[in-house]
Amino acid sequence: MTHFENTLAFAQDLDAKDPLRSFRDKFYFPTFHEKTVRYFTGNSLGLQPKSTREYVLEELDAWAEFGVEGHFLAKRPWFAYHENLTEKAAKIVGALPIEVVITHSLTTNLHLLMVSFYRPEGKRTKILCEAKAFPSDQYALESQVKFHELDVAEHLVEVFPREGEQLIREEDILAKIEELGDELALVMIGGVNYYTGQLFDMETITKAGHKVGAVVGFDLAHAAGNINLKLHDWGVDFAAWCGYKYLNSSPGGVSGMFVHERHAYNPSLPRFAGWWGYDKDTRFLMQPGFNPMKGAEGWQLSNAPVLGMAAHLASLDIFDEAGMDRIGEKRDSMTAFMEFVINDISEKNKERCTFELITPSDKTKRGAQLSIMAKGQGKALFDALSDLGVVADWREPNVIRIAPAPLYNSYEDCFWFGQLLEQAIQ
Ligand SMILES: *Cc1c(COP(=O)(O)O)cnc(C)c1O
Repeated sequence: MTHFENTLAFAQDLDAKDPLRSFRDKFYFPTFHEKTVRYFTGNSLGLQPKSTREYVLEELDAWAEFGVEGHFLAKRPWFAYHENLTEKAAKIVGALPIEVVITHSLTTNLHLLMVSFYRPEGKRTKILCEAKAFPSDQYALESQVKFHELDVAEHLVEVFPREGEQLIREEDILAKIEELGDELALVMIGGVNYYTGQLFDMETITKAGHKVGAVVGFDLAHAAGNINLKLHDWGVDFAAWCGYKYLNSSPGGVSGMFVHERHAYNPSLPRFAGWWGYDKDTRFLMQPGFNPMKGAEGWQLSNAPVLGMAAHLASLDIFDEAGMDRIGEKRDSMTAFMEFVINDISEKNKERCTFELITPSDKTKRGAQLSIMAKGQGKALFDALSDLGVVADWREPNVIRIAPAPLYNSYEDCFWFGQLLEQAIQ
């Protein structure tokens, strides 16, 4: 167990030793508050890199200068703009370039992937997901089941935490996979649960799903840019994530798709098609009959929204410079420090309000997020915390979610979070 102290001097010392400390200066911190903003919602909307403006302006200028010719004459030709992102995004999720494409939005991508990978047939018709999945995922899953004219209550099987527990036990997921056996068509789970911050063992779940003959996909909205992923090696069939949470790529910005190499060269996989998924060498012959690009690119529908892509590229360049290994090391260390600070504040104030972390304390079972259950005070505590300049997230009835982001949060931020949390109780 690492030795920590809940003091400003100790936090500043950790910052001084942090190899990523200079990255903080690459971001804008919000200024809307009269107090110094302590930002902990990088799991909801990542902060804006200062370089984003330059990347976006470059494309606005190219549009002004070239009009439609920007597709070929821009410094980064728009025709192939998304290709600038592929390799960098692939490194973040542990994939081969052919397995990744940046395109569309997250929920759109989930649907497009499920059209291809949820193919109920005969007995094998069910989808397994985690209980309390993010609402958009629930709606997407339900509508996919209905799209095949199947009954949702019967075909969408959820794994719940046990009575009196907050987290889902992995053994229960594995047991359910085993139990459903040849009725299981698809496992579709959030790699990191958005509410509890629980990280699932995607490799083990993938192997278990494959063992019974099911396809396995993950929603990585809370995992991409946060967790050290190895999608290729784990053998995951497909995945999707958004670019605006840990990946800092603008509100509602472009998203990512992963399709495992083993599906890359199979043009007969059913899919909803659009011209940008068509083989690029012959795309502009505009011939009837769909001939898909190899790999994940074959799932693209439309030409790239270049301004959103430019924002994503700015951020991916920062990730490339920092590297997921260093990001992961700081994530574990800073999250552990934050946990220590919260436990310390909880202990010191136990007469009035205690804080219980529902996120696993095992660092291999979580990323940067901590979900804190406030016992003894409700929303008033959170409102007071917000008045003190803390940007966090509240979920009824009593959970505060925070995510110290390794690229721009500091240990000092974590120390101040504790101080302000204590003030908010008083
Ligand atoms: C943030 C998030 C979404 C949001 O979907 P969009 O299509 O980007 O609006 C969906 N699913 C999960 C699990 C999320 O965390």
